Amino acid sequence: MEFCERTSVNAAFDAYLDEVDHAEAEVAAQKPMLGYPLNCHEMRPLLPLHATLHRDYTLNNCGDPLDNVEKPWKLNTLKQEGRLITRLMERWGGTPQNCWGYITTGGTEGVTKGIALGYERLRARGYKNILVVYSKASHYCVPKAATLAAPSCNKVSVEVSDTNSIKLGKLDDVLRSAQVLNVDAILLCCTLGTTFFGGCDDVAGARSLLIENGFGSSSFYIHIDAALHGGFWQEDKQTPKYVVGRHFDSISISGHKWFGGFIAGCFLATKKGSADDATRDKSQIEYVKMVDRFISGSRSGAPAVLWMARLLQFDWQAELDRCYANRDYLVSALRSLGLKVASQYVNVLLPRPSEEVVQKWQLMCVGDEAQVLLLPHAERHYLEEFVEDMKRDIEAGNVHHSTERLKRLEEP
Ligand SMILES: *Cc1c(COP(=O)(O)O)cnc(C)c1O
Repeated sequence: MEFCERTSVNAAFDAYLDEVDHAEAEVAAQKPMLGYPLNCHEMRPLLPLHATLHRDYTLNNCGDPLDNVEKPWKLNTLKQEGRLITRLMERWGGTPQNCWGYITTGGTEGVTKGIALGYERLRARGYKNILVVYSKASHYCVPKAATLAAPSCNKVSVEVSDTNSIKLGKLDDVLRSAQVLNVDAILLCCTLGTTFFGGCDDVAGARSLLIENGFGSSSFYIHIDAALHGGFWQEDKQTPKYVVGRHFDSISISGHKWFGGFIAGCFLATKKGSADDATRDKSQIEYVKMVDRFISGSRSGAPAVLWMARLLQFDWQAELDRCYANRDYLVSALRSLGLKVASQYVNVLLPRPSEEVVQKWQLMCVGDEAQVLLLPHAERHYLEEFVEDMKRDIEAGNVHHSTERLKRLEEP
């Protein structure tokens, strides 16, 4: 597909563009992805914006979207980024007065920055023996971020229940033994929506346990990794509504997952603290006119604009309601084939089918289980076709036996 003018520079350049066109056409011919968190619903309305954003320049958002400092270079979208950040933080009780944030290069940078902030703030308050705690179902970037951003800390991962959320009893055990080991502060990373099966930690419950175990609010820091589920958390009427500064200290939510339409970009917001970045130099860097509070220096200016357009493109309440209705349809259709199936939020967990079905629908698999994600692009007629494929797979004896976890989850 062509949407940019071709100006023949040389044959190799043209040939490369053809090669990319060809590869894109192959991907476009595939069935929609059902297992991975990238919303691909109605992307075409964004095409003119993609072209505009890359017309005769590259937009570089090296800088602070909320400091209102006019940059010496004009090729940035920091004002738009500031508007977007403000809008997103309001959903979690934040304002530019009590909160700060930026659009990171992706979810991994969001989590790394959250953990770095926790580490810096706890260190600035004088704590030396900080324990980093997260669940065994955390994304692989969480232990990586802890190693990078909190290098001197011990780390412990806590067992999860069948729904992939932290077992509060096990967290309590960890916090008790932490006291015995003279740990003086806790850096807790909770997850809202584990990558596989969408486990959500009880953030308020975890916070109460910290306090019960003698950690005062200045001796712990809670980051929430809400890469996918943070996108629709406020539209789901059943979810507990956590507030920044009250229940947690920082949160990261990816743009390319629930919202989609561009790659990378993660919203990070944190409660402003008196010890902000205290371990680092707070002076302005003259030639870029900013105080460096970032992990990445140069950041693309495109995602902030595309993300805002995406917010305006849909009625997100209706999108979520449709996804949940599709989830309920899929669960009952698969159960009527005799499969053990479990679901929560937009995640459906089922026994792993044949490799052919896994490849066709790009399912996410772990062991004998597979996941379908009901994102907005997973429309009903695709789900019907998927159910037909599953039916054939079962008849051919290609579907794995149900796992113990699925059996337990299906029991009333
Ligand atoms: C995807 C994901 C991440 C990391 O996001 P990237 O943008 O791939 O770096 C972090 N946490 C969770 C729970 C995720 O699902």
